[in-house]
Amino acid sequence: MSTISRQLKPVAFLDLAALHQPLRERLDAAWRQTVDESAFIGAASVTQFEQRWADYCGTAHCVGVANGTDALELVLAALDIGVGDEVIVPANTFVATAEAVVTAGATPVFVDVDPSTLLVTPELVAEAVTPATKAAMIVHLYGQIPDMRGLAGVADEAGIHLIEDAAQAHGATFDHRPAGSFGIAATFSFYPGKNLGALGDAGAVVTNDEEVAERVRTLANHGRGHHLLHTYRGRNSRLDGIQAAALCIKLDHLDDWNSHRRTVHQLYLERFADSPIEVLQTIPGSLPVHHLEVIRLDDRDRVRDELERSGIQTGIHYALPCHKHPAFAELDRRPLPVAERAAGRQMSIPMHPTLKIDEAHMVASALMELL
Ligand SMILES: *Cc1c(COP(=O)(O)O)cnc(C)c1O
Repeated sequence: MSTISRQLKPVAFLDLAALHQPLRERLDAAWRQTVDESAFIGAASVTQFEQRWADYCGTAHCVGVANGTDALELVLAALDIGVGDEVIVPANTFVATAEAVVTAGATPVFVDVDPSTLLVTPELVAEAVTPATKAAMIVHLYGQIPDMRGLAGVADEAGIHLIEDAAQAHGATFDHRPAGSFGIAATFSFYPGKNLGALGDAGAVVTNDEEVAERVRTLANHGRGHHLLHTYRGRNSRLDGIQAAALCIKLDHLDDWNSHRRTVHQLYLERFADSPIEVLQTIPGSLPVHHLEVIRLDDRDRVRDELERSGIQTGIHYALPCHKHPAFAELDRRPLPVAERAAGRQMSIPMHPTLKIDEAHMVASALMELL
């Protein structure tokens, strides 16, 4: 059993303090302005961010909401998806994707993923369609958009909606089209650690469908229509003014941050070539934004422990596929072998916009030494 021979400088999994340091003055000014103008709810900054985010995603509408999970729930509600309806969900995703379907009253139908990308394929989605299927949640997991051309064909044929869970894919493209522009609607999370993160929880729905946009906006504001009438049974899921102001500032840097992630990914690819480390493959036509750098290896837990001991932080995304969590015990739990095998072998190594090139080399060297 090999151990790392050198004492290493610690390498953080994510460093938000370093990310925000150069933005300190602009963020401070935004905070002061928010307080001075009491621009807390329904602020001009919200409208401004919504316009900028719709432009960035190439969609006609954007509705800012409180977080990415609410965004998913609101889209399902806006599409009248609920009791008796099935929604196709990848087994390998963050649990929020499935959670939203359950909260809506619908049934998640979990599908397996492709071993080279850990994403769904058009074939896997097509096989899961039943007469009760209303939609498929397509998750651009780890920052990569799957074959949306093929998936659109499957959805058209089956007469179901595609909903994009783009919480990990701000700025990713497929066929030069941005994440968020493919489905009937797409959802984003601006959780602080995402590629575009707020200073707390925040989210958005983007869509080209005016009716869906209007319904999401109404549902997220207590179902309130015009003249103080509550048209629908809604809820409160508004985007805060301070979060919108911070997001406008950080959006100016998103492309640079994503491009740094691509540089780091390229470095890892080159360092791991001809090694037993499995990296995720890139789908033809897809330009990922590498939200996470997920590798697979056989003795993952030992390697992780050793890295941790030498100061290199890692994570696991995700330790169990959705259908294996106790929370979903009452659902159909057919074996989904690719997702299940990946869960035991995958780990996420440092990948973020302020990761230094020499730090990425240290991570790669430490890993290679441990194999
Ligand atoms: C982060 C995330 C969400 C949930 O977003 P929150 O803002 O934390 O509610 C949903 N889906 C995926 C794939 C995510 O990564």
